[in-house]
Amino acid sequence: MQIAVVGTGYVGLVSGTCFADSGNDVCCVDIDAVKVERLRRGDVPIYEPGLAEMVTHNLEAGRLSFTTDPAAAVRAARLVFLAVGTPSRDDGSADLTALWNVVEAIAPHLPTDAVVVTKSTVPVGTNALLRERLRRLTGRECDVASNPEFLKEGAAIDDFVKPDRVVVGVVTKRAADLLRELYKPYLRTEKPFLVMSPESAEMTKYVANALLATKISFINETANVCERLGADINDVRRGIGSDSRIGFAFLFPGVGYGGSCFPKDVRALEYTARAAGYEMRILPAVDEVNRRQKTILLDRVLAHFSGDVRGRKLAVWGLSFKPRTDDIREAPALAMIDELLGRGAELHVHDPEALENVRRQYGDRLQYHDRPYDALSASDALLIMTEWKEFQNPNFALMKRLMKSAVIFDGRNLYEPALVREAGFAYHSIGRAPVG
Ligand code: NAD
Repeated sequence: MQIAVVGTGYVGLVSGTCFADSGNDVCCVDIDAVKVERLRRGDVPIYEPGLAEMVTHNLEAGRLSFTTDPAAAVRAARLVFLAVGTPSRDDGSADLTALWNVVEAIAPHLPTDAVVVTKSTVPVGTNALLRERLRRLTGRECDVASNPEFLKEGAAIDDFVKPDRVVVGVVTKRAADLLRELYKPYLRTEKPFLVMSPESAEMTKYVANALLATKISFINETANVCERLGADINDVRRGIGSDSRIGFAFLFPGVGYGGSCFPKDVRALEYTARAAGYEMRILPAVDEVNRRQKTILLDRVLAHFSGDVRGRKLAVWGLSFKPRTDDIREAPALAMIDELLGRGAELHVHDPEALENVRRQYGDRLQYHDRPYDALSASDALLIMTEWKEFQNPNFALMKRLMKSAVIFDGRNLYEPALVREAGFAYHSIGRAPVG
């Protein structure tokens, strides 16, 4: 099938490449000419495990191409996917500027039988507006569909090719049939292909993200209470997770959620509800708990240094908003870095994949280290902000020799407190009593 994908970010690039990998002819379009030039050479500008190899393979097979020209991309397409960003405005609403710009650009070139499919996360009602706009711009009725994306950065390809479900919101049976045919290769294990109205599909995406964010804020808030009451959140987690009604997923205490989706989607759903005359109570609390959690370790760091971190040499491991990605959008590490820099600390940072993105934002205000142990040299403490696998079994003896002071502030509960204390460290984590 001939497919166009507009926007080659995390979602557009993964979707387009996976569609090509199952035999479709896919043309991806982006306004960023530098990015398109790199992609044409098989140089993938984001870190997503397995993606670079898949892009190269499909480029070589001639099924995947990249352009900056929307006309060239959509001219022969049966399905046109919109996968541009929908960031938060200051008031919490979703900024659809990029989406509407794309619609203006593609409308004159759309084949009469093409279906325009929204993969970007958009507020309820956007597909109806899209249909109206296309009618106005083309002078005819255009078929539209909503197909929200549920992939997780860091495991995006796996999620895409083995989805738990595919959700489509359609107004015509033809659109549902085309999308079912497209997704057939990924649904061979009887995972559901769920057909509903565009409004319900749009809402499904927001509700899924809002519920996941709620679970994270809930466990974080209860972790903070555990600490005050002498309970251990890791034990409590084991106790509740074994209950089949609860489960373990998304119940890891930490320094809050980040990324390009949860923060903005929580705010956008709250905004949409308010615009529809309903004041949500849960979501503002989820957002507020998360903002506070992002700097939860700061109080401990300040207490440890008697309120003054000026000139203190602090190492930070983990900068991306979660492991296996280079994405630093709304990453908790950055909130912490801002606080510590503002208080005059000297920061030595390491991340397996996100260093370049951080360097672009912070320049020479930070010291960057390609290897984790290099960041520790003569440091007064280590802060762990992302649970990369390579941090899970470190050489504590070497760390102790390198650091000036053996103190760890672990925002992801990576270690057993007793073991770290045995290794000679003072150890602060989330929802567990400090040791050492
Ligand atoms: P992104 O910011 O990584 O990528 C967006 C891309 O769109 C960029 O390459 C940008 O240059 C391009 N673009 C902007 N305006 C354009 C235009 N007029 N024409 C062509 N290209 C244009 O965004 P993302 O993280 O891939 O997210 C895209 C959408 O998918 C968002 O709505 C997001 O909420 C949703 N989503 C994201 C994820 C995720 O994990 N990142 C998961 C599910 C859904």
